[in-house]
Amino acid sequence: MNFHVMTLFPEMIEQGLNTSITGRAINSNIIRLNCVDIRKYTKDKHGHVDDYPYGGGAGMVMQAQPIYDCYMDIVAKNNIKNPRVVFLTPAGRTFNQQMSRELAKEDDIIFLCGHYEGVDERVIEMIVTDNVSIGDYVLTGGELAAMVMIDSISRNIKGVLNNDISAETESFTTNMLEYPQYTRPEIFMDKKVPEVLLSGHHKNIEKWREEQAYKRTLERRPDLLQD
Ligand code: SAM
Repeated sequence: MNFHVMTLFPEMIEQGLNTSITGRAINSNIIRLNCVDIRKYTKDKHGHVDDYPYGGGAGMVMQAQPIYDCYMDIVAKNNIKNPRVVFLTPAGRTFNQQMSRELAKEDDIIFLCGHYEGVDERVIEMIVTDNVSIGDYVLTGGELAAMVMIDSISRNIKGVLNNDISAETESFTTNMLEYPQYTRPEIFMDKKVPEVLLSGHHKNIEKWREEQAYKRTLERRPDLLQD
């Protein structure tokens, strides 16, 4: 899987994703991270990539030309046909585990990170296949949102997690949140690990976990049980 990211801040994404589990996956060539600086493609002699919005209003808007040229270069250099192009935007479909699993089947995904007030709509219409938000709040830029998506999609790619079962039992794999987890010691500040988990009785443990997952989902996210 190749993740290509069009951004004004490539080092932010590289630093974030080159650590921990995603960092290991990059080092072992299970995933590839290709962050491309949009600013390198501007034809403006002062290196500008943004301008005032037509019609007035607050802030600056990222211009179409550098983004379009950046996109064309990524597609040509990597020989990509009909790529999924994700624009990170609060005005998109909300990202979830189902979308993450679906995107994990792609060979290449190109992300476009906005900054400032947004991006000229014309280039979005020309190259973007998916407008995606990571939640109902506004971030400074799309970089953190792209990192969230790449991290999550990577977990659904074979070989990224040491134990592929993890992705199968986690929250949202079914319509339930995950059950509570415990590790050593057996007693921590008078709080004991539930007896059933020490019993070694796999059927009872499984039953207890299912009950806990249901209880937790009902309490915290009853909306999931209605789907
Ligand atoms: N003016 C835009 C609006 O009201 O929809 C918000 C622009 S925001 C300050 C700058 C950039 O951050 C956006 O272009 C987008 O790429 C990114 N961004 C902000 N919030 C996001 C979210 N919830 N999900 C994904 N990307 C987001």
